[in-house]
Amino acid sequence: MNTDCLFCKIVAGDIPAKRVHEDELCLAFPDINPQAPTHLLIIPKEHIASQAKAMAEHKLLLGHLMATAAELARTHKLDKGYRVVTNTGDDGGQTVHHLHLHLLGGRPMGWPPG
Ligand code: AMP
Ligand code: ZN
Repeated sequence: MNTDCLFCKIVAGDIPAKRVHEDELCLAFPDINPQAPTHLLIIPKEHIASQAKAMAEHKLLLGHLMATAAELARTHKLDKGYRVVTNTGDDGGQTVHHLHLHLLGGRPMGWPPG
């Protein structure tokens, strides 16, 4: 736990969030500022500051996050497709420095992203 981290506080229950999925490794909840009809954040319970800090020891955890995104896409009926995004660092547009996947769906997505 990083006591200065917003998402660690959500994991701890100190900041409320609607827990749409929780298991021993990760937590998923709706983004407070949704960019699509479905916009969930999937985060590891362990504090990892960003994708740039992911190491070999995190391989199973990272795979678990992706598999959880796929499961949530199915339960949210994103049958026409969806996008999974991990903003990383300043150029990547990361604003919360605790690794997370955005699961976006329910509308067509443009490319290239902004
Ligand atoms: P990023 O900009 O990729 O780091 O994503 C951080 C995301 O966290 C943004 O889309 C925010 O809208 C979202 N966010 C910030 N605070 C909260 C919160 N308290 N509950 C849910 N989502 C949040
Ligand atoms: Zn954290």
